[in-house]
Amino acid sequence: METLPFTYASFQQFLTQGKLMGSRCRRCGQRYVPPRLICRRCHAGEMDWIGMPLQGKLAAFTTIHVGQSFMVAEGFDRSNPYCVGVIVLGEGVRITARLVDVDARQPEKIAIGMPVRAQFLHPEDNGDGRTVLAFRPIV
Ligand SMILES: [Zn+2]
Repeated sequence: METLPFTYASFQQFLTQGKLMGSRCRRCGQRYVPPRLICRRCHAGEMDWIGMPLQGKLAAFTTIHVGQSFMVAEGFDRSNPYCVGVIVLGEGVRITARLVDVDARQPEKIAIGMPVRAQFLHPEDNGDGRTVLAFRPIV
């Protein structure tokens, strides 16, 4: 697995295996998810794959009423919106992903700062069999 290139395709491949993988800079230790090949902080180009925490905290979210076509195919639309959140996984590491098990029609009930856990969704109707990363509240 260390030989996979630091690309979104590799990230996606790990998701299919139920793994949330990012890259870590060998020089300064900064972590990225999805992975980056070049460190944004120190500009080094030496990365290692690293497993990311599967739990984090919700930092921000938005409710989407007019989604991308694969979301529409899953039944989401103006009357059935969904949420996308920014999740903090640790020091300096954030990822944007779908939020599930939240009521997108009642966003006032979704709490910033709430703990969330990664889920690997396998929607049957998105056409390409892609695994989708999502986070759900930890209750
Ligand atoms: Zn670095």
